[in-house]
Amino acid sequence: MQDDPAHRALRLPYLRPSARLDDVALEHLVALWERLQAQARGNAVPPERSGGARAANAAMRAEMRERDNYFEEIERAAGEALDAVGYRGPGAISEGQLTDLAAWFGFRIARVQDLPASTRSVTDQRARVVYVPQRNNTTVRTARSVIAQTLGHFALGHSDPTDFEGYVRQRVEANYFAGALLAPEQAVAAMLRDAAARRDISVEDLNEVFYISYEMAAHRLTNLITRHLDVPVHFQRCDPDGLLWKAYENDGVLLPADDDGTIEGQRVCRWWSTRQAFESEDSFAMYYQYTETVTGTFWCATHVEADPGRGDAVTVGTTEEHARWFRGGDTPRRSVSRCPNPSCCSEPSPEQRDRWVGQFWPSARDHSNFVSGLPTDTVVFDPYPGVDLVDVYGFLDRHTPGR
Ligand SMILES: [Zn+2]
Repeated sequence: MQDDPAHRALRLPYLRPSARLDDVALEHLVALWERLQAQARGNAVPPERSGGARAANAAMRAEMRERDNYFEEIERAAGEALDAVGYRGPGAISEGQLTDLAAWFGFRIARVQDLPASTRSVTDQRARVVYVPQRNNTTVRTARSVIAQTLGHFALGHSDPTDFEGYVRQRVEANYFAGALLAPEQAVAAMLRDAAARRDISVEDLNEVFYISYEMAAHRLTNLITRHLDVPVHFQRCDPDGLLWKAYENDGVLLPADDDGTIEGQRVCRWWSTRQAFESEDSFAMYYQYTETVTGTFWCATHVEADPGRGDAVTVGTTEEHARWFRGGDTPRRSVSRCPNPSCCSEPSPEQRDRWVGQFWPSARDHSNFVSGLPTDTVVFDPYPGVDLVDVYGFLDRHTPGR
């Protein structure tokens, strides 16, 4: 038992067999050891299951990189729908056009006050109604994107996903479709070309002109700028602790990752734009920075969301060479990152360690609310993570006449 590597890994002192150790104690120890091993085997997650969501995210990211984050078939589907309702551009689609788009896909939009709290919209596929929250000033933008995403699921022929891969793909595709509908390809491309001529490309302008969230505007820029302007880019979304939750790159920036290539939940370098932005005096102003890294020098623009209680940072950037096309490309701010070398920022100095080892007790913050909206590596796949189905069924019943 004590020779077993698993036992040695427990780092217990060696128990010397002797006549003083009675048989009852020995039998008890052996039984305990056997139960411990059985338990470890029982809890072990089979390799094909471990990281279902992680593997699906990594595969999706690889495909996005491969395609420069441009999905031609989705652009085409959105383009046909926009043509059908008479959108000619430039600029955002109107509320009336959005209603017409829903009708073109066979749906009606209903604004209600009693939408279940765990949802952003509920679609009755039988009656073909998309229920969204009653409008108010803060939710109009959100409602537009929720409607566009919902239409995307139907336009792209999505059915209920049965695994993580399908779930991740459908979510990415529906988001992509929403962006393509609300910020049409030709209108965005024309705006980017025009801004490039003035060396003034920015996510903020897409955000303003197309009436979409900053994050959606950032995604839209990554969808189209490589395709139309041949500019490589990267995108990151980080929480205030500097943990990465979404990322994309085709410009060679080295994203922090696990051994298996997972980036979700990894902490980005302290010297990168994202983390520096949180520490700047005016963290809600745009933050621009050049960062020298082990894979080259990159320029980044970071926007910290003012959303109370969350305030994630969305960063879009490119190589030093292409920074000149962007607003903020003339920033004098520079920083040096030596990550993934642990001495850069992830490891305390030997002096600090000597001074503090064994003398402190950090209490970690729970990150469960950050991931509650994401599929986790649970054994049973849940196609609607975080959604209260009892609420949703009750809601649908309330809105079905004659029930
Ligand atoms: Zn670092």
